[in-house]
Amino acid sequence: IIELGQADHAVITTCAYCGVGCGFKAEMKGETVVRMTPWKDGQANRGHSCVKGRFAWSYATHKERITKPMIRKSISDPWTEVSWDEAIGYAASEFKRLQSKYGRDSVGGITSSRCTNEETWLVQKLVRAAFNTNNVDTCARVCHSPTGYGLKTTLGESAGTQTFDSVMFTDVVIVMGANPSAAHPVFASRLKKRLRQGARLIVIDPRQTELVSSPHIRADYHLQVRPGTNVALLSALSHVIATENLIDLDFVRERCEEKAFKEWLDFVSLPENSPEAMQEETGVPAEQIRGAARLFATGGNGSIYYGLGVTEHSQGSTTVMAIANLAMATGNIGREGVGVNPLRGQNNVQGSCDMGSFPHELPGYRHISDNVTRHEFEQAWNVTLQPEPGLRIPNMFDAALEGTFKGLYCQGEDIVQSDPDTQHVAASLSAMECVVIQDIFLNETAKYAHVFLPGSTFLEKDGTFTNAERRISRVRKVMEPASGMADWEITCALSNALGYPMNYTHPSEIMDEIAALTPTFTGVSFDLITKMGSVQWPCNEEAPEGTPIMHIDEFVRGKGKFMITKYIPTDERSTRKFPLLFTTGRILSQYNVGAQTRRTPNVAWHSEDVLEIHPVDAEDRGISQGDWVGIQSRAGETVLRADVTTRVQPGVVYTTFHFPESGANVVTTDNSDWATNCPEYKVTAVQVTRVTQP
Ligand code: SF4
Repeated sequence: IIELGQADHAVITTCAYCGVGCGFKAEMKGETVVRMTPWKDGQANRGHSCVKGRFAWSYATHKERITKPMIRKSISDPWTEVSWDEAIGYAASEFKRLQSKYGRDSVGGITSSRCTNEETWLVQKLVRAAFNTNNVDTCARVCHSPTGYGLKTTLGESAGTQTFDSVMFTDVVIVMGANPSAAHPVFASRLKKRLRQGARLIVIDPRQTELVSSPHIRADYHLQVRPGTNVALLSALSHVIATENLIDLDFVRERCEEKAFKEWLDFVSLPENSPEAMQEETGVPAEQIRGAARLFATGGNGSIYYGLGVTEHSQGSTTVMAIANLAMATGNIGREGVGVNPLRGQNNVQGSCDMGSFPHELPGYRHISDNVTRHEFEQAWNVTLQPEPGLRIPNMFDAALEGTFKGLYCQGEDIVQSDPDTQHVAASLSAMECVVIQDIFLNETAKYAHVFLPGSTFLEKDGTFTNAERRISRVRKVMEPASGMADWEITCALSNALGYPMNYTHPSEIMDEIAALTPTFTGVSFDLITKMGSVQWPCNEEAPEGTPIMHIDEFVRGKGKFMITKYIPTDERSTRKFPLLFTTGRILSQYNVGAQTRRTPNVAWHSEDVLEIHPVDAEDRGISQGDWVGIQSRAGETVLRADVTTRVQPGVVYTTFHFPESGANVVTTDNSDWATNCPEYKVTAVQVTRVTQP
């Protein structure tokens, strides 16, 4: 036990939890972390932090860390510890065997938004160059892939438009499908500071989040939308702005495509999109929709912050485009205090997307079929790349069950716990002949693995993370990898064993390669980041020190493009058999699947997932506070303890998914976003019944 205050040196690094990307000072005694203190010069957090970054890091030395590579021939066999050479050699020979037997596209890889840009770059490079397929995807598939699609289509770039500091210049804020107090706490404190200064607040959420219920701030409107009807609500808001002449016509004429705008205007002006027409579907009274629309359009600088309550729907991409439409129509793009701001869930989800972890896009969001871009990579990497898009994660699962996808290299992602329809994921992994997991703990997915490669924590690696405001920050090693190999070294070793050479001596060389091949990263280097503290991309000849706010004079795509966003109800509607709508979210002290926070003191603050149910629905079912309840959907069934509360509206139930035993994703279905296959985690039709203790 080391007492606080015993540090002999400190290292500046970046939090490995949420997309705020707080800078931290790791106070060290030798190779032991004494404590983590928020870095006062951190440009994302300015000396602030939350309970996760500050206290939840002792998982790095938890006794359950796996530090030796392991293999087994069958998932029913026990694991055998082997040398690095044997594990890497076995994985490589299995991938080669599968490709020779079943074809080049029978294998693929998944990159992690928890890992650094450099590590993610290498995994997608290995898949494209060593496997020579485009079957590479990232866990962004299941969170913000609709953001990438929606913002690129409308504005021209797959990223948020602002800095976090920009919120201090806003006058009216829409927070939609996000609970920043729990999921992005340091940003939430800055937002609340601005609200206390007088900014107005519109919350769009099926549930009463802390922004609505806090006695210290006041939401002007809480549009308590029914899960699955976001597009209907945004259409109604736009209808008011269009029909009450609240559009910023100067902005639209100068900055946006005229034809697309006129088509959008005609569409949203239709009576079927009016608040009165949409109030029954959305559950939001028409006068509230009208009031909120008028406030946003006339209240000064208007900004929109959104989270997974926007993206994780069958119309996730449509919702993102509807948000961009709203921002353009009101002239709220291209200066301080405005903008469209996705709140990214994971520390490096922006980065994993930037690094080309998509089956259809090379780094920098350039399509794989684009000959010029592909040839540039072919020359640099000395390989011929495939021009056709590969498989997305859900397509890999389906192909596995069809017998055409046989081998997976998965880095830092627990797909069994985090992806929807657990039974389907488990069956798909069971159908594969070689599953290679690179992680720090034997997670749920490792139960289906044949090779386990022990990965490293953020304290054991050098590299960079890119946060939700496109800010690239350094991650610095404070201790040696527990397994003796850093994640980037493992990927290089696997690639070398597969016959495609990867020879780097330090992650800074990988960043140099990223900068040379990715136009938005031109000039980015470890030296530049150290000199500036952090850099926000796009970084290039015109903006050698980065770009805090995008689309200032013109959109990245030239003119902004309004898109028709027609509301299409989800298939997950309440029925007689499944009358309630199940939705999910997060809590402050835990993080995603809980692999890290469940192995830290944070677990003391939240040690189980519970089902929030409205008193009316609870009474109908004879359910009291703390009772065990069964939750059944068409996908599966699980059991949780009930929390009877008015935080949820009648007809809606809610839980978190931080503990594997809660089985939240046993219930969620294979419904997904039409454009990106992002799962519809936020709407599942269920029945809830009182049960005896499981
Ligand atoms: Fe880490 Fe996010 Fe908390 Fe900052 S707000 S300390 S990045 S979890």
